[in-house]
Amino acid sequence: SYDELYIKSAIRSIADWPEAGVIFRDVTTLFKDPKAMRMVCDAFVQRYMNQPITHIASIDARGFILGSVVAYQLNLPLILIRKKGKLPGDTISQDYSLEYGSAAIEIQTDALEPGAKVLVFDDLIATGGTVLAAISLIRKLGAEVHEVAALIDLPDLMGSQKIQDSNVPVYSLLAYE
Ligand code: IMP
Repeated sequence: SYDELYIKSAIRSIADWPEAGVIFRDVTTLFKDPKAMRMVCDAFVQRYMNQPITHIASIDARGFILGSVVAYQLNLPLILIRKKGKLPGDTISQDYSLEYGSAAIEIQTDALEPGAKVLVFDDLIATGGTVLAAISLIRKLGAEVHEVAALIDLPDLMGSQKIQDSNVPVYSLLAYE
């Protein structure tokens, strides 16, 4: 298993960013610490090593960094779910709401085939809006979401609960109250 305190010590908290009252959990300091980064990636690899997963879908942009290491270690195809306007070719798009305003993410229509069993990867679950939009895109392509993996969950915001209510398991390494 993994050293939760060590990993937490590698994540920097920045008060009042991007706006007053928010504590931003900054994982750039974790990416800069090879020991912490290795612990995190190894913990995910251990968990998913013998599970019936066919693809890893990583979410723009910090989800790419964790998801790609795990996809490499598990020898699985890596899919990108990107912010609107970034992916070439045929795409489908899903709008979702943010605290103020809205956003959209996209996937290429040939990224997944029906029957694929997908592990969704992001760095952090807050309200769950981003991950729920990703789940909706994956399901629209006829694929199934095996589980959502995130480094950090903010359980007070109820996002991981909402995801579990849509019948998708959530696995996170750390929670910040
Ligand atoms: P949600 O859609 O409200 O669950 O927000 C999650 C998305 O916003 C993820 O893609 C995160 O990368 C990003 N995010 C929200 N809060 C933080 C934070 O404190 N640190 C890093 N990323 C965050």
